[in-house]
Amino acid sequence: MSLIESRSPQAPEDVVAQVPDNGPGEVAEAVRQAREAGVDWAARPATERAIALSACAEALAEASAELAALVVREVGKPIGEATGEVARGVAILRYFAQAALLPEGDVFPAADGVSLLHTRRRPHGVAGLITPWNFPVAIPLWKAAPALAYGNGVVLKPAEQAPAVALRLAELFAGALPGGVLRVVTGAGAAGAALVETADAISFTGSTAVGRLVRQAAAARGVPAQCEMGGQNPSVVLPDADLDLAARTIAGAAMGYAGQKCTATSRVIVVGDADGFAERLVAAVEALEVGDPGQASTAVGPVIEPAARSAVVAAAQRAAGRGAKILTGGVALDWNGWYAAPTVVTGVPEGDELLTEEVFGPICAVVPAASADDAVRAANAVRHGLVAALFTRDLASALTLAPRLETGMVKVNGPTAGVDFHAPFGGEKESSYGPREQGPAARDFYTRTVTVTLTP
Ligand code: NAD
Repeated sequence: MSLIESRSPQAPEDVVAQVPDNGPGEVAEAVRQAREAGVDWAARPATERAIALSACAEALAEASAELAALVVREVGKPIGEATGEVARGVAILRYFAQAALLPEGDVFPAADGVSLLHTRRRPHGVAGLITPWNFPVAIPLWKAAPALAYGNGVVLKPAEQAPAVALRLAELFAGALPGGVLRVVTGAGAAGAALVETADAISFTGSTAVGRLVRQAAAARGVPAQCEMGGQNPSVVLPDADLDLAARTIAGAAMGYAGQKCTATSRVIVVGDADGFAERLVAAVEALEVGDPGQASTAVGPVIEPAARSAVVAAAQRAAGRGAKILTGGVALDWNGWYAAPTVVTGVPEGDELLTEEVFGPICAVVPAASADDAVRAANAVRHGLVAALFTRDLASALTLAPRLETGMVKVNGPTAGVDFHAPFGGEKESSYGPREQGPAARDFYTRTVTVTLTP
């Protein structure tokens, strides 16, 4: 059996996990087992499923420190953020334990005046969950918790860079869930593709290129699919904004966890004194501590792998070759581990990949705009549409401009990065496909509606 391994980005000599590279046969077998276990799970009263999910939450809460340390080790997330992510995982499990107990349908007036005409919810069977490495606790859980709460079996295919975290989660939950109802398959993209061919509903988070393949394959089989994909997120700064707040907030949103968030800010669109704002931004970026993600004071750790580090440096250097100016960073750091210096670039020519593609690392471009209208046009001039931020102290500007930003989420005076797990999450254009994730929308995705007429 061939194996894949994950290595610690800050200490690449540290092999964190060696796991099977599952092929289609193993994936199909996991789906068969989850489907079998799911029959009994779906038949249980929701009250029992809620108790089981609460027990998962408690198991994770007890193991919080251990899990956060594993997240730091396997994906290089700074310990403060890793701890927050695990706490969010616990909260997600508790939320869906309660959500399982909410009313599941509606009662309608019946034509004959006596029948009970109502809607019920039925799980799909097996939910196939395909996840990225950058939120190895929160993303699997915000899919698995609702899938399980509403009676599905689950097969999770975590990213090949983060199998240890997923396997540890499954181990922690083993005492709380019936055997087989949550299965983890490990491997690279082929294992994910095999899951798309066999599961009864697919929830994918990852890059836009892979998401496109997933949704096409799911559509060909006629199974429900949702895909959360990449971003190229703008932060728009108006002249009346609190510029210090904007600079600090954008620095964190662009560089926190080395920019490896789908919600990271990539473009900073400034109306007014763009050079002056760029100076403030550079100062805020340079104030962020870059280093060992195990240290509490670290804001920017390593990137996930060597190719990610090269991508950041190459994007900055290519833009510089086309006339852009690198204000800070633009180089790999000569440390053990995959570190790229936080990078701010200005004067990027129109059409450059820094303004159109997701680099997925600690890099952003400052772009001047002549007016608020011009800024909105620039913000919308990409094929992505996940999240945008707008910095202004003027309520009228906030209220009129926010709905014109073509993204699924808009933050006024806040960072593009940051997710509220109990509210709908998702984007527009090539950033998202299918229904929103999380919150009440999750019930609709993980179940089907059955209209029942009961005539006495
Ligand atoms: P990726 O697309 O390379 O991989 C995501 C998952 O898909 C992995 O488990 C991978 O093994 C699997 N996969 C690869 N090829 C496949 C195929 N042909 N069929 C099925 N599955 C396949 O993404 P990544 O590098 O792990 O994560 C980074 C990307 O994820 C970025 O683009 C980022 O913006 C995006 N992301 C989006 C969100 C969101 O909610 N919108 C959240 C986090 C990350």
